[in-house]
Amino acid sequence: MTNIALHELQIIDSHIGRLERELTSLAEKRTLDLKLSELGRLGKISSDKAHLLNKEQAEQKAIEDKINGLTNKVSREEARLYSGKISNPKELKGIEDEVKALKSHRDRDETKLLEIIEVIEELSAEQAKLNEQLQTARVEADLAQASYERAGGDVDMQLRQASAQREEILKAVAPDTLKLYDRLRHEKQGLAVAQLDGSTCGGCHMELPAQELGRIVAEEQVWRCPHCRRILVRRV
Ligand SMILES: [Zn+2]
Repeated sequence: MTNIALHELQIIDSHIGRLERELTSLAEKRTLDLKLSELGRLGKISSDKAHLLNKEQAEQKAIEDKINGLTNKVSREEARLYSGKISNPKELKGIEDEVKALKSHRDRDETKLLEIIEVIEELSAEQAKLNEQLQTARVEADLAQASYERAGGDVDMQLRQASAQREEILKAVAPDTLKLYDRLRHEKQGLAVAQLDGSTCGGCHMELPAQELGRIVAEEQVWRCPHCRRILVRRV
C-alpha cells in the first residue's frame, strides 16, 4: 500500500504545485498587485502633501496673528500721535518714526502672507486632484480584487479539495517515508517518486540493472532508483 500511497501523494503534490502557480500567475493577480501598489503610492503622496499643507496653514495663522498685533500697535501709536496730548516735537517725531517702522514691518509680513496663501492655494488644488486620483485608484483596486477573486475562485476551490485529498493519502504513509519523500521532493525539483517504465526509471530515464528489477516486487518496501535515488513505484 505504501508505494501506491506515495505515488498518489506525488500526483496530488504536483497537482497542488500547478494550482498554486496558476493562482500566482493569474493576469488578474498581477493587475491587482499593480492597482494596490498604485493606491499605496498615491496614499503616500497625499499624506505628505497634507502634512505640508498643515505646516503652511500654521504658518499663515502665525503671520496673520503677527500682522494683527502690528495693526493694533499702529492704532495705539497713531491715537497717541493725534491725541493732542503730546506737544513735544521730538517726542512726536519719535512716535511718527515708530509708526513708519511698524507699517513697513507690517508690509513685509503682508507680502509674506500673500506668498503663503498662494502656496496654500497650489497645495490645496494639488490635494483635491490627488483625492480624485485616490478615489479612482480605490475603485479600480476594488474591481481588481473582485475580478481576482472571481478568476481565482475556481482554482482556490480545487486547491482546498486537493489539500483534503492529500490529508487522506498521508494517513497511509509512514512518518519516516514521508520524511524521505519531503527531502527528495526538495532535492529533485518536486519529483520524489518515479514510476518504473519497463526497466527504465521515470525520473532519470536510466535503465535499471536486471537483478535490481527482480527485487522490486514487494509492495511494502520502499525502493529507490540506484541512479537518481528517487523512490520507485511500479506502474499500476
Ligand atoms: Zn532514477
